Amino acid sequence: MKEKLKVGVYGITGCAGCLLTVLYEECFKELIELVDLKAFPLVRSDTYKGNFDYIFIEGTVCFDEDIIVLNKLRKRTKYIVALGACSCTGGVPTIKNFLDQEKTLKLVYPAHNELKEEDPTPINKHIKVDYYLPQCPPSKKEIVSFIRCIAKGEVWKDYNDPVCVECRSKGNPCLLDQNKICLGPITLGGCGALCPSNDVICYGCRGPFKDANLDAYTNMLKKMGYNKKEMHDKMRTFSGLQFRDQEGGKTWLEK
Ligand code: SF4
Ligand code: SF4
Ligand code: SF4
Repeated sequence: MKEKLKVGVYGITGCAGCLLTVLYEECFKELIELVDLKAFPLVRSDTYKGNFDYIFIEGTVCFDEDIIVLNKLRKRTKYIVALGACSCTGGVPTIKNFLDQEKTLKLVYPAHNELKEEDPTPINKHIKVDYYLPQCPPSKKEIVSFIRCIAKGEVWKDYNDPVCVECRSKGNPCLLDQNKICLGPITLGGCGALCPSNDVICYGCRGPFKDANLDAYTNMLKKMGYNKKEMHDKMRTFSGLQFRDQEGGKTWLEK
């Protein structure tokens, strides 16, 4: 019988929401049945010392310790899977990159000034990442599909349309028509347009859609009466660093 893939599920700085998503029955069942789950420190002591085929990682790099953990894990696995918005795009913690650093540190960690902070960044700024399962928290359906795919030895294909495609196919009324800043046109879909389907704007938690026309989008928002700060505040919620990087490292969000 073919040997099962050796898999680990780890977290660095994060809220554990992605790890808890993996624990949902439908995801965990696939992990237990289809792969050899060697390590999952959230649920049992990590005593495994061997190598992995796949390691899933939740969280953002916020401290020097996170980089040490990432480098150690990278050396022990063939493939790294960034799990969730924090890991894929930096997520909510990266808002700190756009704030006054000193004030933030005093406000959030008044009693822990000995912490060696890093500017919050997604894990691909530090190690090679092979696969991305974005969203905050990540989609159970997508995690299950990914596990089934790798267990069969098939090649995982990323979703490649903006949120608007799924939103329009569901027949949702467009929130831009209601003069709300919805990031659907510039955000990678694959969530089934979860938020607009519930009358909530898309905040971009799956990261930027790589072929998005950012200039056309911001010009449209300008015509709707929004200023730069209002647009940037929305884009910085989950993926500020990526929107900033979209123009070849030039600071798109800041121009
Ligand atoms: S992506 Fe969301 S659920 Fe996952 S660690 Fe970050 S904040 Fe928590
Ligand atoms: S509501 Fe948002 S996601 Fe839906 S079509 Fe309009 S802009 Fe796109
Ligand atoms: S609609 Fe936007 S914010 Fe909501 S889950 Fe999808 S990508 Fe994330």
